[in-house]
Amino acid sequence: MPRPIQAYIDQNALQNNLSVARRSTSSRIMAVIKANGYGHGLLRVAEALAGADGFALLDIPDAIRLREAGYRQTILLLEGFFEASDLELVAEYQLTCVIHSEWQIALLDAYPKRAALDVWLKVNSGMHRLGFAPDQVAVAMEQLRRHAAVREITVMSHFAFADETRGVSDQLALINDIAAQYRVARSYANSAALLRYPATHVDWVRPGIMLYGASPFADTTAQSVGLKPVMTLSSRIIATQDLRAGDEVGYAGQFRADRAMRIGIVACGYADGYPRHAPNGTPVLVDGSASTLLGRVSMDMLCVDLTAIPQACAGSLVTLWGAGLPIEQVAAAAGTISYELMCALAARVPVRT
Ligand SMILES: *Cc1c(COP(=O)(O)O)cnc(C)c1O
Repeated sequence: MPRPIQAYIDQNALQNNLSVARRSTSSRIMAVIKANGYGHGLLRVAEALAGADGFALLDIPDAIRLREAGYRQTILLLEGFFEASDLELVAEYQLTCVIHSEWQIALLDAYPKRAALDVWLKVNSGMHRLGFAPDQVAVAMEQLRRHAAVREITVMSHFAFADETRGVSDQLALINDIAAQYRVARSYANSAALLRYPATHVDWVRPGIMLYGASPFADTTAQSVGLKPVMTLSSRIIATQDLRAGDEVGYAGQFRADRAMRIGIVACGYADGYPRHAPNGTPVLVDGSASTLLGRVSMDMLCVDLTAIPQACAGSLVTLWGAGLPIEQVAAAAGTISYELMCALAARVPVRT
């Protein structure tokens, strides 16, 4: 028998969440499926999101897997190409490249083919991560327009505060001013901007996290905007322990019982992708009842409180996150975000669809 841990990936929920995006905008939808589809599995996610107008990711081998599986949509490489030899594959598989730095234009200059490449010129409108500064855009745009290898140019930018109270207004004003000088398509919005700021939608939106059924906002649940969780991580109790007052649980006795208690040992640990830094009190479900994590998470196990769930025993189902327990709640308790938990799902966890 394998260990009872498993991840269930709900492809109907992915389709539902894409529909939520569709209903929120009339722009074209670039589904962001980087990092193995936010940990859900690249082709598994692409299959359910086949109705998207494009896919965005990072690695050329992943883009090729999509093309070879028959996807004809725009495929955007979010960091573009890294070296000259990438350009052959980019052209052969008709991949669209973000151009964010001068060195990439220099690599393009050495590329012999004509009018084969679509590019998204990335503008740094305030994130200060990737992209040309506002005063460098005109030169970069001119280089790309004159370039024999470049076919279509789209202007893109990315928001640093779309999920925060500060919002998008400063960056949006800046990028709109710049883009207005050119007759090109535009793309600005991530999930948070898509859900909250219709003025950012322009030609292409780029939702990621919302497609996986998590809210990008701390103050708005996914359910309240119609999103359904896609990944449910579950396992089972494999042993129980009766504690007396004063007994300590797990490494370094990070939890100490102050009264008699019953705990369950769950077959799930940080080697499965559960965050090791999740503290005592992090929510879990045992046979559908609310419970909490106790003690330090180990590599292959964690402990939960069964004191108030007397019927729970070895074999009881434990939900770590997903259906019935929003991943955002677990992430918040563990001091991280849903994105990190999803991406950290370990390769050893069997996936069921
Ligand atoms: C990851 C990413 C997105 C998607 O962001 P979400 O917050 O997951 O919606 C959009 N655009 C770019 C450039 C990204 O890197």
